[in-house]
Amino acid sequence: MINYTEHVRQLMSDIVLRVPRLSFLDMNRVLVFARSGRADREGPYATCHCVCLPASDPGYYFWRDQTTGALTRRSEWFVTKSPVVRVGSSQIDYMVSFTLPRFCDQRRISASKRARYAGHPHWMAKLDTIIHELYHIDPHQPGIRRIERADGTPSTKCHSPAFFKDVVDMVTQYLTSDPDPQILEFLRYDFEGLTARYGGVVATTFKASSYPRRYIEVVRPQPQAQSHDCPVEPLELPRVTTHFSEKDLLTRRFWADGAVARKGKVRAA
Ligand SMILES: [Zn+2]
Repeated sequence: MINYTEHVRQLMSDIVLRVPRLSFLDMNRVLVFARSGRADREGPYATCHCVCLPASDPGYYFWRDQTTGALTRRSEWFVTKSPVVRVGSSQIDYMVSFTLPRFCDQRRISASKRARYAGHPHWMAKLDTIIHELYHIDPHQPGIRRIERADGTPSTKCHSPAFFKDVVDMVTQYLTSDPDPQILEFLRYDFEGLTARYGGVVATTFKASSYPRRYIEVVRPQPQAQSHDCPVEPLELPRVTTHFSEKDLLTRRFWADGAVARKGKVRAA
């Protein structure tokens, strides 16, 4: 069977060696994992997750009187934090998730992406996605790369025409650097093709259905804030895992219908 996330990781490691604009990336601090998602459903092919953002400034939710504008009640003070992810001795700063089998099949390639690779084999769209996700990592500060408007001021968006063009340039740069075709071989197959060639697809994934995400924590002790004197409501927060390690990861098989486990008849003993 083919380990899909291992192959993506090997390709990413080769990309950061050959594409100078991505050479700042330390692949020991990037975790590649898979999530389930059917090819015929809407959803992302891949996502870049930052788990190294510092805690937010303390804040609270509040309610105002519509007429007077005065605060009528507020929540406790809280901060938003990144989970801690360590794999072996490596501190993970970013994670890139791939949705299987959707990523392998890429049935809903946008017209603009198709135009960017007109006349090229269809698997270039997958290489584009892989480089696209790596390019989201900001080289200068923790977080997702910031996009600037034409006047140089920061934009709230994380994509721009220049971003997509840079990705195409990096795809071209990588392919003209004479990479080992074996490293790219797995991109040539859709999910069915991979299953036929390798006998099945496995990938690294998180054991629980949830993966590390930013979470809210109540500030203890609560700051004293006389200026916001109104009833305070306790925050009812779900219990979340805040620390992850290799113990939370497993390698499991993925199926064409997006099922987590193999469907089958269960016989009563
Ligand atoms: Zn993106």
